[in-house]
Amino acid sequence: MRSGFPDFRLGSVLATSFTATLTERRGEPVERIPTPQRLVDWLAVSGLAVESCTAAQLDLARELREAIHAAATATATREVLPAAAVQVINDRSVQGRAAAVLTSEGERRWRVAGVEDALSVIAADAISIISGERDGKMALCASPTCLAAFFDTSQSRTRRWCDMNTCGNRSKKARFQANQRRKSGSS
Ligand SMILES: [Zn+2]
Repeated sequence: MRSGFPDFRLGSVLATSFTATLTERRGEPVERIPTPQRLVDWLAVSGLAVESCTAAQLDLARELREAIHAAATATATREVLPAAAVQVINDRSVQGRAAAVLTSEGERRWRVAGVEDALSVIAADAISIISGERDGKMALCASPTCLAAFFDTSQSRTRRWCDMNTCGNRSKKARFQANQRRKSGSS
């Protein structure tokens, strides 16, 4: 945590790591990129470092985030993709000039000059998971206060939580406490 801001929940999938910058959507939502600088920080730890971000760019980012969330949720529940969300994702994808570059160690890096470029990479990542192009399955987190859409890449496609360390753990703890109560009640 940095200067009192909520920390990031980073996963292995860029697009859903991005939607996870707003968590507990069905409970008490936690905004993890409350300021332009926090978006700069998030982009830096996500391999999309940019120098600065304006308030308008943060708005663009949040609009993309909610569009990805809506489209990913529709995919997970097998509903028709919301047209407005598709439009936002496509606009952001088209309006960036990011370039993939290969390092001499054989790794892919993104060359981005600004927030719009970084958002285009995130939008393209969202397109690749929503379109079914990548190996995995869109699913919704089992936590009732979360219901985040996540991309399940487990062998069995039976992952239940968006994040094992938070939603998964909380559910385990709740079950444990319920068991303890039952035990102490019956003795
Ligand atoms: Zn969750």
